[in-house]
Amino acid sequence: MFEDFFKVVKKRFNDSSDEEERETVKCPRCQSSVLLERYEELHRVCPNCNYHGRLSAKERIAITVDRGSFKELDAGMVSGNPIDFPDYPEKQKELREKTGLNDSVVTGTATIKGSPVVVGIMDSHYMMASMGSVAGEKITRAFEYATENSLPVIMFTASGGARMQEGIVSLMQMAKTSGAVKLHSDNGGLYITVMTDPTTGGVTASFASLGDIIIAEPKVLIGFAGRRVIESTIKQKLPDDFQLAEFQHEKGFVDMIVERRKMRSTLSHLLKLHGYYPQEKEV
Ligand SMILES: [Zn+2]
Repeated sequence: MFEDFFKVVKKRFNDSSDEEERETVKCPRCQSSVLLERYEELHRVCPNCNYHGRLSAKERIAITVDRGSFKELDAGMVSGNPIDFPDYPEKQKELREKTGLNDSVVTGTATIKGSPVVVGIMDSHYMMASMGSVAGEKITRAFEYATENSLPVIMFTASGGARMQEGIVSLMQMAKTSGAVKLHSDNGGLYITVMTDPTTGGVTASFASLGDIIIAEPKVLIGFAGRRVIESTIKQKLPDDFQLAEFQHEKGFVDMIVERRKMRSTLSHLLKLHGYYPQEKEV
């Protein structure tokens, strides 16, 4: 999974008289080099093949919800070391300092073009957004909050799967989050999943696949087990586009593929279509 990360390389332009150094990124899908500046301008979308690269939770919030509307839920929740996994607390401490996150998912309330929502964003920069006890609990609580307050839920999923450092405790989050989705659904609440790169493992096998509407960003990886594991198990070669969003869309696993630049307006449209209208401004 890690080879998919954009590799930032420094490239020297020899024809430049001042020997200007410009940073480029290499796209993991088409392998072309793209100027970092251009890539950032496009909110991390490859201009060559349209692969939608990984965003941090903070970046996702900035381009999705109304400015200043995001209020985080359960911000201070941090995990313990339920199975005494060696070096797990140290690794978490280091990541908390490096990413500014307390775990792999950020949840909160916000508005999108005025419509109130509960949003959850998984951030692959924190342990590949693996789902441990804290991620599972925050997602569950976000659904419970939405159910109590009759709000829709939008989950931006990304994950390497269950967090092995928490063993069975991490696998239990699959049942817990799925239960919360079911209660939300029974209460008539809307749930939209937005699958981003990569959505795999126990997250795909639980709440990520339970959306009433499942959206995916172009060219992102969506699957359960990795390609090599499946190929060696079934002894067959898989198609080149296997587990890409477009393949999953063709097979009916994903309802729609939406480009990042159209995501906010598409979500707003879907919310209104389901009766979640912009709130009246208080006088
Ligand atoms: Zn590309």
